[in-house]
This record gives sequence, C-alpha cells and structure tokens, in this order.
Amino acid sequence: MMQAVVLNGPRNITIEAVEEPAIKAPTDVLLRLTSTAICGTDLHMYEGRLGGGDRMVIGHEPLGVVERVGDAVVNVRVGDRVTVPTHICCGFCANCVHGYSAQCLTNNPGKAGAAYGYPGMGGYTGAQTELLRVPFGDANCLRLPGEPGDRFEHDFVLLADALPTAFHATQMVDIRNGDIVVIYGAGAIGLLAAMCAFVRGAAQVFVVDAIAARLDKAGELGAVPIDMSKGHAADRILEQIARERSGIAWRGEEANLGATVCIDAIGFQARDPRDYAVEHPTTVIDDLARIIAPKGRLSIIGVFLDSDPHARSSEAKRGEYVIPWGVLFKKGVMIGMGRDDDENYNDHLRDMIVAGRMKPSTIVTQRLPLRDAADAFAKFDARSDGYIKVVLEP
Ligand SMILES: [Zn+2]
Ligand SMILES: [Zn+2]
Repeated sequence: MMQAVVLNGPRNITIEAVEEPAIKAPTDVLLRLTSTAICGTDLHMYEGRLGGGDRMVIGHEPLGVVERVGDAVVNVRVGDRVTVPTHICCGFCANCVHGYSAQCLTNNPGKAGAAYGYPGMGGYTGAQTELLRVPFGDANCLRLPGEPGDRFEHDFVLLADALPTAFHATQMVDIRNGDIVVIYGAGAIGLLAAMCAFVRGAAQVFVVDAIAARLDKAGELGAVPIDMSKGHAADRILEQIARERSGIAWRGEEANLGATVCIDAIGFQARDPRDYAVEHPTTVIDDLARIIAPKGRLSIIGVFLDSDPHARSSEAKRGEYVIPWGVLFKKGVMIGMGRDDDENYNDHLRDMIVAGRMKPSTIVTQRLPLRDAADAFAKFDARSDGYIKVVLEP
C-alpha cells in the first residue's frame, strides 16, 4: 500500500493508503515520486466545478525516479530521473505525431486528450501519491540530469505542467521582441507566463491580480503589477501605456496604443472586479478586448468548460459566454486557446533550466509533506498565507 491524496467530493481531501500500481502493459513505467505539485486546475476539482471527481486520487504534476519498466520499454531505465507531462501521450496517433500531445487519440478512447487525476480524461490515477503508473513510458518520460533533492528539484517539477502551460500561452501568440504584454492572473501560470514573455523578448509585461503576495511576486519578476481590486485595471494600463509613449518618439501611434499581446490566465472562475466574492466569467475577456491593440494577439490559457452546472447563468452552465466579438473583429485580433501540448516544450524548457536561463522555482512558495495536503488545499483555495505554488513531498 502507499499514501495518496484522495478527493472525496467538494472541499473534502483525505490522505489514504491505496493499492500500489503495477505494470499493466509492457510499455508502462512505474515512477517513484520525489516531488508532486498542486495545480490551480486541481482547485477547480476541489471546488466541485469539474464534476465526476469523487473518490479520485488527484494530481498531475509528478517528478521522480523510475522504479520499474515494462518489457517493451526501450529508452527509459530503472534509476532514471524523469518527469512526465500532465497530458498522457502515446507518441504514435495522428495527433501525437503532429505535436498535439494534449489531444492524444488513443489514451482516452473515443475522446481526444488524457491526463492523470482529471475527470473525463481517461480515468488515470492521479500523481499526488508515492508511485505512479506511466503509460507509454518511452513517449512520456522526460529524462533529467542530477539527483533527487538537488538545486533543480523545484524547477523540474514545474516541467510536468506549469512551465510548459505558461510557455504555451506565450507560444500560441508568438510573443517576440518589443511586445507589450498584459496578463490577467498572477497564479503560477500567469507568473510563469510573465517569465516566459521576458525570455522571449517582451518589452513590458503588466500582471493583473487582486492578491498582494502574488502582485509582489510579479514585481520581483520585473513585471508591472496592477491591483484589480483598486478598480479600473484596464483604464490604468491603457493610461500608463499612453503616458509612456507620448511625445515625439511615438509620433502617430496614438490609435495603435494598447497591448500587442494579452493573456487570460484566469479562465471561467474570473471574479467581478467590483465584488471579488462574485464570479463573473467574462470580465477578463471584456477588459482584454479593450486593452488589446489593433492586430493584437489574445491567448486564453485559463480553463473554460463546455459544461459548468454550478455557473450563475443558464448560458454559462452550457459553457456559452457573451464576449465582445465585434471589438475583437474590428481590431483584427488573433486568438489562441486550449490545453498545452506539453511534449513540444518540456525538453527545451529543461535545457533552459539546466543552462541557468530560467529559474521557475522562484514561484514555488510552499514545500510540504504529502500528509499535509488537506491543509495545503484549503489554504491554496483560500489564496491565504501567500500560497501560490505548493510542492508536496511524498
Ligand atoms: Zn496543472
Ligand atoms: Zn497519441
């Protein structure tokens, strides 16, 4: 038996002894985890918003050492230090070979996309546990240098999901030299997206949130923090951009002012800026449509659902939203959205970490034993005590 973090129902987490996984297929790998992170997506499940998550081992951000390999595994050996992406790929279906690993066609039969500890994505046991069964180990395992617990431990655990997701947010909209970027949401993904935007050459990055500790972290990364709880975030950003670009150096650009890139790193649980306790799923897109410059690029990396029974409006219950389509069309905005194809990014991001060009672990705020997961979920969900990114130690 082994210890695992079990989601029993809304806001009900227990740490329980569960059956250890076994090699089920010759292509499987068993991974003994050294770190496993809690994700903002886990909170959607924790709050009962994704449905179907009752009595499920949760988690999808593992890092560990290979403990056993199936007979058909050729590229991974016992003792290898590896991380595996959240989205389980097979490596040979039409989507996987085209690089769309988050939409794998074989690991969740009849649907596109599989993941650990995620309702509706194949029923795979989650990663907040001691041992993880990894299907198609050769395709999924990303080999890593060093030893468990070394100076890269907290960086590498972010390669499972958080960092590739943030990078995807910047890749979908091709952030490049000189871009002015506005990111809504200073959770792990928003902060890491700011880090990625700078690596890609952004001139300026604004990060919008309502939580002081997160805004402080955005400032530490070199971004301009904007506290949305102080009102009119969009106006203040537009005013700052206009003020800094007024005068002779920017002749004739007045009608083109705004952000060249906007990123929604919040998604369907966006809050009403006038009353932070109330959800209002379209406030972020409304603001971004105003802030974005003509020919801007809009990246939506925050989660949206096709069914949300707990939404306030009947439309939102069906995943339908009223958004300023006309404004976006008039400005000629390009939009990218959806889950990240992690396999495209994780090896390059590993190399950036090893070379010292990125230090994503600067956003990790807590490292706790797995047995403290229930308390960690409650505090992370309440955004209290500076909880931004929690790494559990099995
Ligand atoms: Zn995640
Ligand atoms: Zn596939």
